[in-house]
Amino acid sequence: MQFEGKTVVVTGGAKGIGSACTRAFHKEGASVAVLDRDAGGIELADSLGARAIFIHCDVSREAEVSAAMSEVSSLLGGPDILVNNAGIQRYTTVTETTEEEWDLVMNVNLKSAFLCAKHAIPRMQERGAGVIVNISSVQAFISQKTVAPYVTSKTALLGLTRSIAVDYGPQIRCVAVCPGTVDTPMLRDAIQLSPDPEAVYQECMDMHLVKRIGTPEEVAALILLVAGPQGGFFTGQAIRIDGGLGITIAGSKREEF
Ligand code: NAP
Repeated sequence: MQFEGKTVVVTGGAKGIGSACTRAFHKEGASVAVLDRDAGGIELADSLGARAIFIHCDVSREAEVSAAMSEVSSLLGGPDILVNNAGIQRYTTVTETTEEEWDLVMNVNLKSAFLCAKHAIPRMQERGAGVIVNISSVQAFISQKTVAPYVTSKTALLGLTRSIAVDYGPQIRCVAVCPGTVDTPMLRDAIQLSPDPEAVYQECMDMHLVKRIGTPEEVAALILLVAGPQGGFFTGQAIRIDGGLGITIAGSKREEF
């Protein structure tokens, strides 16, 4: 019960990585608040019972974030830990992206993290300490075709992570967690865009040195580690949890030298 007495806010906590993270913090004794626009979060909070609440919130809108943080504070106290996890993917290049699509991805993936941090930090300071974990992606380091807005937003999150760590340390730590491919509704929806989803799923597994994709629970375990009492020396950094994705030198015609 390493998080007993702590309040954790998880954005996009209704499913996928956010849901696994919410369950894991709750299991370790934390009070948890799921901020999501997906009402599936109600069922999750109900299933956890005491110490869990769902707040319907579009985390890209400041008025909603501000109201949600006030509600968290009055119902649960804190927050002590904020996990900026909500995110969306759009498959598009720079020349194909509309201004609206660009703004949408930036607002959900990047502006939301700024807004939630802005409204959580003063409450963390009142409590004397806090941790912010920004869920970026391995795509902050390596890329694929047709993901320009997503890659840009996930890379910019690393800058936000450093800024928060520098501006609010030592009281507040801020860490970015950068997953490779993880089996979540986001991934399942993405591969359904292909005419052959099974082949794409296999391709995803093969891309990783460990020859599989990650589970939301594995990512949640890292988030708990960096946010918890054993993680006090992590700050300002991006930590990859990616099964070795992108480590191999591509383009070589020879298997061995
Ligand atoms: P997911 O399964 O799609 O879950 C994300 C949750 O966030 C959904 O419940 C979604 O609601 C919610 N959300 C989206 N926009 C929101 C908004 N404006 N306000 C409040 N909630 C919002 O995603 P996931 O795969 O677990 O991904 C979680 C995070 O990890 C994301 O930041 C993603 O970029 C990152 N990540 C994922 C992978 C992967 O392979 N899965 C890899 C690297 C990084 P709706 O369903 O209604 O949109």
